Amino acid sequence: MKNSHVDWNYTSVNDNYTSQYAKSRAVEMTRGKMLGGSSSLNFMVYVRGNPHDFDVWADTVKDKNWKYKKVLPYFKKSERLTDSSIQSSYYGAYHNYKGYMGVQRQYHPDVDGYMQAYKELGNKIVIDTSTGDLGYTQPLFTISDGTRQSTSYAFLSPIKDRINLHVWKNTLVTKIIFDANHNAVAIEALTSDNRKVTVKARREIIVSAGSINTPQLLMLSGIGPKKHLQEMNIPVISDLPVGENFQDHQGALLAFKMGKLPSSQPPPNPHQFPIPLIIGYAALNKTQNYPDYQNLNHIIRDPATLLGFCTFTFGFEDALCRQLNETCEGHEVLLAVPNTMHPKSRGKILLKSKDPKDYPLIHGGYYSNPDDLENEVTYIEDVIRVINTTYFKEVNAELVRFDLPACAGYEWGSREYWKCYSRELLITIYHYTGTCAMGSVVDSRLRVNGVRRLRVVDASVMPFITSGNINAPTIMIGEKAADMIKEDNNIFSFLKHILNIF
Ligand SMILES: Cc1cc2nc3c(=O)[nH]c(=O)nc-3n(C[C@H](O)[C@H](O)[C@H](O)COP(=O)(O)OP(=O)(O)OC[C@H]3O[C@@H](n4cnc5c(N)ncnc54)[C@H](O)[C@@H]3O)c2cc1C
Repeated sequence: MKNSHVDWNYTSVNDNYTSQYAKSRAVEMTRGKMLGGSSSLNFMVYVRGNPHDFDVWADTVKDKNWKYKKVLPYFKKSERLTDSSIQSSYYGAYHNYKGYMGVQRQYHPDVDGYMQAYKELGNKIVIDTSTGDLGYTQPLFTISDGTRQSTSYAFLSPIKDRINLHVWKNTLVTKIIFDANHNAVAIEALTSDNRKVTVKARREIIVSAGSINTPQLLMLSGIGPKKHLQEMNIPVISDLPVGENFQDHQGALLAFKMGKLPSSQPPPNPHQFPIPLIIGYAALNKTQNYPDYQNLNHIIRDPATLLGFCTFTFGFEDALCRQLNETCEGHEVLLAVPNTMHPKSRGKILLKSKDPKDYPLIHGGYYSNPDDLENEVTYIEDVIRVINTTYFKEVNAELVRFDLPACAGYEWGSREYWKCYSRELLITIYHYTGTCAMGSVVDSRLRVNGVRRLRVVDASVMPFITSGNINAPTIMIGEKAADMIKEDNNIFSFLKHILNIF
């Protein structure tokens, strides 16, 4: 669904530094433009992050309600796990089996050799990483009965007949309207047939437009950095660092040519998803209980999928993908993507103009902090040790040496080479967060600072990106916000919350 009418088709501003082997010379920042947003086109991996993430987050925003033990019930609330081995294990108590959103685990026989190889390097093999255990696993997916569990499918479909629910599709919200006391009282929107409509709010307005569009909408409405709004000729209602603090997980693509495939293979079933995937979480310091990097391992057994990943998903130049395809012809391929869990680099979203139809400027800021590049190289070095394991030797595995003229000045395999490689072949994991961060733009109850009756509930409120894919943490934020809204409309629950905060 990438690059189609259900994708916003955003591209980052070319920084002339990263992603220079991408056809667009920038990062294609896929975003779902449909009910369910990006959960309707994501890769469906279900990951919660690490307990450490939420404890740091709670300390930062000085509200213990964001600590791991307080958010865990909200992860569980939405989940409907069907997996008897997890249910009967130690991990069983950390899951729910009755929620709206189906979750299941991948069991693929083709991944055993890879798991053993990573184990040989000192990693654990675990059946579930939801509690924050480090190691390699066959992941959970937001799939149930062969159906994608987008937030639209899981949460909206069952309540379509509620008389107090109205959904307008293909409608662009263009502005939030405030009264003289800075209460958010209405929104303006453009319908698909270009009608301008105003919708009034009796209680409050909740913005869930994601980490790119939420800051755009707030800035168009007068909430954002004063200087930038003044440059855009937008009257300032609240001077806040909206759009700043953009964070993402970035990684590098490593391709391993593995064993020979049988000469006559049936063509792949295009309806079969996911392709075999194993995910590793690793810390370089073995006493640390949260990961430094995640390693996504896609096991590919046909050229169409390999080329699809290279040219389309990652958007690399045709010459590079042709080289990958020719080098690996007739062989299984492992595409490993080690990606930094806790980037220090920050990007920002700026308005291009006052026109809500104009796309905002997305400055990814990738590797703007040199520590991230150094760390990425260390993670690559940690992962490519796998080439010396028994399984990789058995199948005569080779690490594909791309012909990269931009890195030709560096000795292959040196740290300087890998730095060049990581920049040039940068991959986004599509985890945009932090642009309306809790603690600076919104408070810990997700209310926008400096105005009233306006909340943000999406991935943009995360002060720090979590350790892993962010769909489940975003849904957790939604579940928690639902309770906050109910509490704020009930005086007894509100008093209970105030007592709880200290
Ligand atoms: C290709 C891809 C693969 C991914 N894979 C995974 C994965 O496997 N696992 C995982 O955990 N995470 C994954 N993610 C990330 C995850 O899906 C998203 O981070 C998450 O869905 C973000 O949720 P959100 O509510 O913040 O924003 P979004 O899901 O982007 O939702 C925002 C919604 O608001 C709408 N909107 C925006 N502006 C306006 C406006 N002005 N008026 C009206 N509507 C508007 C959008 O159309 C969209 O429907 C992936 C993301 C992508 C893009």
